[in-house]
Amino acid sequence: MNVNDSEVILAVLDKGGYAQTENIEEADTILINTCSIRDNAEQRIWGRLDQFQVYRKQKDNLVVGIVGCMAERLKNKLLDSHKVDLVAGPDSYRSIGNLLEDIKPDKPKINVMLSHEETYADITPVRLDKKGVSAFISIMRGCNNVCTYCVVPFTRGTERSRDPYSIVNEAKNLWERGYKEVSLLGQNVDSYHWKKDGENIDFADLLEMVAQIDPDLRVRYSTSHPKDISDKLIYTMAKYDNICKHIHLPVQSGSDNMLKKMRRRYDVAWYMERVNKIKEVMPECSLTTDIIAGFCGESEEDHQGTLKVMSDVAYDFAYMFQYSERPGTLAARHYKDDISPEVKGRRLSEIIALQSELSLKNNKADIGKIFRVLVEGKSKKDENALCGRASNNKMCVFIDNLHKAGDYVDVRVIDCSSATLICERI
Ligand code: SAH
Ligand code: SF4
Repeated sequence: MNVNDSEVILAVLDKGGYAQTENIEEADTILINTCSIRDNAEQRIWGRLDQFQVYRKQKDNLVVGIVGCMAERLKNKLLDSHKVDLVAGPDSYRSIGNLLEDIKPDKPKINVMLSHEETYADITPVRLDKKGVSAFISIMRGCNNVCTYCVVPFTRGTERSRDPYSIVNEAKNLWERGYKEVSLLGQNVDSYHWKKDGENIDFADLLEMVAQIDPDLRVRYSTSHPKDISDKLIYTMAKYDNICKHIHLPVQSGSDNMLKKMRRRYDVAWYMERVNKIKEVMPECSLTTDIIAGFCGESEEDHQGTLKVMSDVAYDFAYMFQYSERPGTLAARHYKDDISPEVKGRRLSEIIALQSELSLKNNKADIGKIFRVLVEGKSKKDENALCGRASNNKMCVFIDNLHKAGDYVDVRVIDCSSATLICERI
């Protein structure tokens, strides 16, 4: 999501006459796009800001700006630090050009107004991925759920869905420029909805509209919310070969107590029912997840519940985090962050160890299977090999000197690690 935001900012700056440079020493303006989800992400940015002070000393008129969630959350602290000249929140990117023009020495500019409407629908992002194979398309912004641990609703504002026709046009345009894959992005794609002039378009409808652009244009999406993922969406995915068979379905915890406290609005039984439905309709569909270890009051039994749900679903991949208290969230206000760093760390290690077992086991079960891979480029480890993803999002590597990025290649899996499928071309 942040990559796509950077691409929108680049488009705005492009129009304003700015040019991008790969060489930081050359830059007159440095903008840092930020994430506030966990404390360590923010700590890294403070570290980067310190590094940039060196450049600021060397170049009198160098502008350093913080954009995105951290700008929204820490506006005053950033201004008080005297380390930045610009602070721009996620809904203010259109104004960045003007803000930059008005910056005077020791007079930083700030715009952190959140909007109920802004979707940047009419802005064609400048693509950062230079391979020209796969692109992100933002279909909605903000979030209306208030998961108690999460800072997103505070930093990115309320949920708004983007005009579906602008989304389809953007995808068509990418396809015409040679792109082969688009990923539709939102915090909770299942609550996408567009109502206008008697038309009523939900996420399944939108996905179908994008899938119909061309059977060779792959479509991915993220993120589904377990409480909202509908049968209609599952059947739409099954209907189109070019809708990739992968669902990222963050479970967060395998304990009903924790899920309630997190305000996720589903329980383990509901989650498993959704997983079983997906597996029944699309047995080949890969499932991945997000997990938080050590949320407030998490008991050993709650933690065991998380390990159990992981084994029951047998995820292919997971993003796994220690709970990080975020100021201002419901959890920070109402619950004690009472799990010690040692216990959080130990539980996270157990979760990571289990996930790598599950990934390896699932990958081993793929040996002998045939997948169609969309080539992303050369493998980093082997000059003579190409890499790319199968529909189920697994990374495949295979020896090949005939194809190039953007080609589809059929391969058979011959070996694997927990992260990669080793394949041969067929
Ligand atoms: N909208 C998505 C998630 C966006 S944030 C969803 O609801 O699934 C990405 C992930 O970061 C979350 O799924 C969660 O696992 C993690 N996360 C969010 N806040 C966190 C916090 N305070 N501490 C640790 N992990 C957190
Ligand atoms: Fe955060 Fe919950 Fe919204 Fe996801 S659904 S962004 S976790 S509040």
